Amino acid sequence: MSDRILLDSFARRVDYLRLSVTDRCDFRCVYCMAEDMEFLPRQRILTLEELYQLAERFVALGTRKIRLTGGEPLIRPGILQLCQQIAALPGLRELCMTTNGSQLTRLAGPLFAAGLKRLNISLDSLDPQRFRELTRTGDLASVIAGIDAAVAAGFRRTKLNCVVMKGRNDDEINDLVAFAIDRQLDISFIEEMPLGTISEHSRAGSFFSSAQVRERIAERYTLIESAESSQGPSRYWRLAEAPAIRLGFISPHSHNFCGTCNRVRLTVEGRLLLCLGNEHSVDLKAVLRNHPGHPQRLEQAIVDAMRIKPYRHDFQLNDELQVVRFMNMTGG
Ligand code: SAM
Ligand code: SF4
Repeated sequence: MSDRILLDSFARRVDYLRLSVTDRCDFRCVYCMAEDMEFLPRQRILTLEELYQLAERFVALGTRKIRLTGGEPLIRPGILQLCQQIAALPGLRELCMTTNGSQLTRLAGPLFAAGLKRLNISLDSLDPQRFRELTRTGDLASVIAGIDAAVAAGFRRTKLNCVVMKGRNDDEINDLVAFAIDRQLDISFIEEMPLGTISEHSRAGSFFSSAQVRERIAERYTLIESAESSQGPSRYWRLAEAPAIRLGFISPHSHNFCGTCNRVRLTVEGRLLLCLGNEHSVDLKAVLRNHPGHPQRLEQAIVDAMRIKPYRHDFQLNDELQVVRFMNMTGG
């Protein structure tokens, strides 16, 4: 196990990597993608072997948690084998994944067997027609079957992720909480972030703050603030009526979570993003491909990159384009 650690220039320990394994997706969620997305050609994306080598170097540098994401990670061919390899890296405490759930009826069991520890599953509506509108292609019944398959496969502390948009799904907040209670799942509510240009709604116009979400929940339940942390950007509350589940709030606009940031993202093009809300990045694919067989070059590039990790993101609440890349390119 490694005794090395990554520190940025603000003395924050970076020990959490969000690794994007594809920019492609079977959904086209309205807040995440444009309808007619162009995806990267194969030669520009990291191979499975390269993804593994990068994960290996991060773990050698003290990374304790890796989240596989995308795009939709479960549509990347070879994902099970990649999970198995990364999960076996000595020193890694937790391998988890964020997924839209569409492939889980088929893959939940094999993923659990491969060593994946936890799943976050996105769910923005419980109304089939609205679910289809928000995802443009998704089928609610198969996602719910996927959530149930994850529970049946043995996954614990599965968390639902819900992006709340005023006028689009804010009326379903308490139904989603009830769904989570019913299945004893955690649930996080996310404020929409200004990543990429979208046309279907105004991001500023649909803004619904975490505080507003809590007000809505308080109409039906008793919220209790909690000091728990999952080493991510969520702040947690519990419910007196269902104390076993956690309610998380990810509030990039209304509550800046940068001070305790411990994470970086690696896009499937091999760009190391030092902050979700900035364009600062380092091309690790170039280092990997230009210096095959020299893992220390890659490690040095990662260590050096920590110096340009900015202190905080700078999201503003308006409709101007702030970060050019879409969330599917960023790795959510
Ligand atoms: N496809 C998987 C999924 O949907 O769970 C993983 C990738 S997705 C980019 C990761 C998370 O980012 C999802 O929970 C999604 O709802 C969230 N997300 C995407 N675009 C967002 C945006 N503009 N603002 C806030 N959250 C966003
Ligand atoms: Fe796909 Fe996830 Fe983006 Fe939806 S949020 S389009 S499921 S990558």
